[in-house]
Parts: sequence; structure tokens; C-alpha cells
Amino acid sequence: MREESGIRHPDRGRAPEERSMQRPVDPHAGGPERPEERPPHHVRVDWSSKYPNEVILRGPRRRAVALTFDDGPDDLWTPKVLDALARLKVPGTFFVVGQRCERVPKVLDRISRERHAIGNHSWNHANLSKLRAEAIRSQISRTNATIRRLTGKTPDMLRPPYGAISDAVVNEARSAGMKIILWNVDSLDWMQLNGEQVSANILSNVSPGSVILQHSAGGTGQNLQGTVDALPDVVGSLRERGYRFLTVPELLGTRV
Ligand SMILES: [Zn+2]
Repeated sequence: MREESGIRHPDRGRAPEERSMQRPVDPHAGGPERPEERPPHHVRVDWSSKYPNEVILRGPRRRAVALTFDDGPDDLWTPKVLDALARLKVPGTFFVVGQRCERVPKVLDRISRERHAIGNHSWNHANLSKLRAEAIRSQISRTNATIRRLTGKTPDMLRPPYGAISDAVVNEARSAGMKIILWNVDSLDWMQLNGEQVSANILSNVSPGSVILQHSAGGTGQNLQGTVDALPDVVGSLRERGYRFLTVPELLGTRV
């Protein structure tokens, strides 16, 4: 496979049409999204082509998008994202970390009560592609059990941290009856961009059926104000263009 030159960037499973997007050169270190977890280019596999029924990058090409938020819940940024979504009357899809659900169950409960969709983002933000089958199974099932206990809902969507996938990850997701949901638009919000930059990354790359990656929590001290600030502009601009906002299950035409 072609070697891409230049700076290492967190090009985590991005669809080919998104790779030309501008990105900052100095990614924030220490957050849950770590560029070094990104697989090297020579082992990149187009997982959605290999497993079209299991690995989903986007929805059907109708005028709708899904806003997705990874790495929560926390008691700082997730409530701010929820406040913004409530003001804008837009549903989100939250891919949550099991361990964090235990820490702030009330915020997970709020996500659930406000009718957002909830997916599994592993137990402790592990790179699942580096784990053996049993460990992957445990990361998935422990998180699903926690979400079920706290919300009464069992997730049927898995978003592997870093978008890092292996055949074993696909097999374990399939065995658990889950689809793997990646994205085709990356806001790069975890790099602590400001609202305008986050908004520009989304609006310049969005197309009908897009699944948009954002975050609702980060590492210690990580600032996601840009994520929150971008939401009114993203929602307003896309509504002007005739887009509707759906959860991922709605976008894909499946049950929550
Ligand atoms: Zn993550």
C-alpha cells in the first residue's frame, strides 16, 4: 500500500474522500484519542469493504445526518453537549465508555431519558484490535451489561476506540449481535479546535447520510468547548441545506 509522507496524523479509519481534509499539525497529547494508536498505513485495511454488513461508515444517501459523540459520559462536557442538543432539538448518538458509565451513571441516565441513542465504546477505551478474542468479548459484554443495568437498554452498536478494527473485533461484534459504526466525517474536535474550526471541518465534508464524529468527553484537562460552540452553527447551516438530524439507528433504518 502507498506510504503517505509527512506528519503523523490521527487519520483513524477515515473514508478516502475525507483524507484530503486539512488538519492541525500538533495534536493534543494525553487525551483518550491518541494518534499513536492509529494503525500504520501499511496495515490499513478497508474494513467496511471487507465487511460491508458489519462495518458501517455512513447511512443511505438521503438528506439526513447523525451527530455522534464518543468517550463520555463525564460530568463536565457531556452535560454541555446535552444542553446544546436539547436547545437545538436534535438527537445525538453517544458511544460511551463502560468504566465512565459506572463513574457518572446520572449523566448516562440523562442521555437515555433525553432519547439519544447509546452505543458501546469499550470498557476502558482499549485499542480492541490489539486484544485477543476473549478480551474483546469482555470489553464488549461488560460495557453492554453496565449500560443495560443503568438504562434498561442493550446497545446493538459498537464503535471501537480509534476506529481500530481486526477480524477478531468484527467476529466478536457479530457474535454479540452488534454492528460496528465508524464515521465518514471527522470533526477533529478532540484536538481542541475552536467552534469555527470544528464547524468548518464538519460542514465542508458532510454529505447526505453522513455519520459525523465528535466527542462528549476527553482526557484530564481536555477542552471540548469547540464541540459545544460548533453545534448551533452546524445544526443551523445543515437545516438551511435541508438536512434532518437522526440517531444512527434512525439513519440506518434500524431500531434504537
Ligand atoms: Zn474514543
